[in-house]
Amino acid sequence: MENSFDIRLESLTQPPAPASAESTFAAAQPAADGPTFYLETFGCQMNEHDSEKVAGVLLSRGYQQVERPEAASLILYNTCSIREKAAQKVFSRLGVYRDMLGKDQKIGVLGCVAQQEGEEIFKRAPWVSLVCGSASYRNLPQLLAQVEAGGQRVTGLDNETDETFETQITRRDNPWRGYITIIEGCDKACTYCVVPYTRGPERSRDSARILAELRQLADFGYTEVQFLGQTVNSYRDPSPRKMRFSELLVAAAQIPGIRRVRFTTSHPSDFGRDIVEAMDANPVICNHIHLPVQSGSVRVLRAMRRTYSRGEYLEKIALIRAARRPIAVTTDIIVGFPSETETEFAETLSLLDEIRYSGMFAFKYSPRPNTPALSMPDAIPEEEKSHRLAILLERQRTIQLEDLHKLQNEIVEVHVDGKSKKPDQWYGHSSCNRVVNCTSASADLLGQYINVCVTGCTPNSLVGDHVLG
Ligand code: SAM
Ligand code: SF4
Repeated sequence: MENSFDIRLESLTQPPAPASAESTFAAAQPAADGPTFYLETFGCQMNEHDSEKVAGVLLSRGYQQVERPEAASLILYNTCSIREKAAQKVFSRLGVYRDMLGKDQKIGVLGCVAQQEGEEIFKRAPWVSLVCGSASYRNLPQLLAQVEAGGQRVTGLDNETDETFETQITRRDNPWRGYITIIEGCDKACTYCVVPYTRGPERSRDSARILAELRQLADFGYTEVQFLGQTVNSYRDPSPRKMRFSELLVAAAQIPGIRRVRFTTSHPSDFGRDIVEAMDANPVICNHIHLPVQSGSVRVLRAMRRTYSRGEYLEKIALIRAARRPIAVTTDIIVGFPSETETEFAETLSLLDEIRYSGMFAFKYSPRPNTPALSMPDAIPEEEKSHRLAILLERQRTIQLEDLHKLQNEIVEVHVDGKSKKPDQWYGHSSCNRVVNCTSASADLLGQYINVCVTGCTPNSLVGDHVLG
């Protein structure tokens, strides 16, 4: 939650967005005395981007976005329920809102907790007026109209749909990287995961719409795009064009003005050679693949219903390693899945050694409602999960430091997206999505692509000097 505040404050204090993106926003500005909204977001990148689209819906209804909840006629809270802690925070946060809520203010809960808890939210927090899951965002205009008309318990909880959330306006927070959701929901059935229940079935967007949105982003001055989806590479074009995911990447890379194309998250089972070939042929497609493995143990992978074995996952890695340029691979790992033995955990450690990921998100298994793993026997004690997590993080830290040290004196291209408080210090991302901190005496580098000579590293970032010319 604090994180989401940081992001918002950062985006509000960022330098002006590219001219045309700003003009989209300006075009949607309502009269100063119109309704106002405050939108707080918690969770993954998809939630952040959903919020950008929700904000677009509100702007097109004449609302104005404000920086403080106290100043808003409508407070919206976009929630995450991927792990228990995230979901628990929602009700304590709603308590904070209750204490500050003025007579004419309304509050709505969006996202995964909205879908998961449904009308129960009205019971536990009767001051909430709207509960809407992400699969119902397409109905937001009608739902908002009901709230505006004084509706007290308005719900959007329809989860069985083949429609996607299309907006005319997207209120983009990031002026450097534009996000585009290409596939919503998930049809996999990992036994630990709430996403299929909270985000509904898999629905891909029409390739023509995606590319039109990207062309518009390029017209606005964006040079970098990230395609989003829980299983982004399971994309299936519903239009007669029937573009494959790899073809969509290539088409995106060919749009004039676009210098970087990213995508996340890829599911190993749907990852094929054609994606690597598309990357090989188009340097605009970034050198980075996020390919969550979750566990190094064949038995645990089966219990998780991940649909691939350790060997099959390693075959995908071999495809990536055979690419003509080095491609960074990052992953997600869950430790302490029910009945995971020490030996099985050791298999995850050995996988880390074998693959040497460039980055890793690691989580302690968290039991979630409606999931098959909830009723699996032999839960691992919290203390043991914490112990395994610490070992895993330490192993990955060592690997990252060793590998980053090897980049000393290399030149990397950095898309600069921030200025540090320290003089002459900037930061940005390399094509392989590494954070790079660099020194440069240039007056303004924001949004620019610069070459940086690597002089050092921390476990999670590179440090270097701007190379002029
Ligand atoms: N669709 C992606 C995939 O299949 O890899 C992952 C999306 S999920 C939002 C992000 C990550 O959260 C997962 O990769 C997994 O590591 C973690 N996660 C999901 N459910 C979890 C649970 N019940 N406990 C702990 N971590 C979980
Ligand atoms: Fe969850 Fe598995 Fe779908 Fe990823 S693929 S969102 S982990 S069910």
